[in-house]
Amino acid sequence: MNKEKELEKIAQQIRRCQKCALCKNRTNTVPGEGNPNTKILFCGEGPGQRENELGRPFVGAAGKFLDELIKLAGFTRQEIFITNVVKCRPPSNRDPLPEEVETCWPYLEAQIKIIKPKLIITLGRHAMYKFLPAHFKISQIHGQPKKMINTKTGDSQVYYPVYHPAAALYHGSLRAALEKDFKKIPRVLKKIEKLVKIK
Ligand code: URA
Repeated sequence: MNKEKELEKIAQQIRRCQKCALCKNRTNTVPGEGNPNTKILFCGEGPGQRENELGRPFVGAAGKFLDELIKLAGFTRQEIFITNVVKCRPPSNRDPLPEEVETCWPYLEAQIKIIKPKLIITLGRHAMYKFLPAHFKISQIHGQPKKMINTKTGDSQVYYPVYHPAAALYHGSLRAALEKDFKKIPRVLKKIEKLVKIK
């Protein structure tokens, strides 16, 4: 099965999912979308109101800003994949609960296994904590690539934590940092690809 079909199979499972209470208030699930052959996977927190209405990730105000940032990095939406740690909207846009993130994890895990991105860019704290150690602080490590090695399989994955675009919309002081971090993405990617080639 090709990657597109495999991702669609996961999306269908997500659309039927009733594993946690978030399914009760959703209009649409938001499985994620983009290029199955991308080198970069963006992972946000969870759908907001507009995303819940349309079933697509980052289509509200934060999404418009994310589009600008992606352009700043030299990419288009068509070239990358965007998803979230939870696929249904938390009520009143509250933070996803740890148990909701855990329950939803097999879907994100399956998406990552299919896409095999070279770089996972976490948008905001909640996405960062799904992948990186809890003692990390986003204010200290944003814009720094972090390589994590799975001790069981020996597989490695590079993560790139950045502030959430919505946070930068509310706190203008984060905007410059976010733009700087996005401009660095091509360099980070190049470095990863160079290492892979040497190996
Ligand atoms: N914020 C997120 O974290 N994800 C979305 O899809 C939209 C807004």
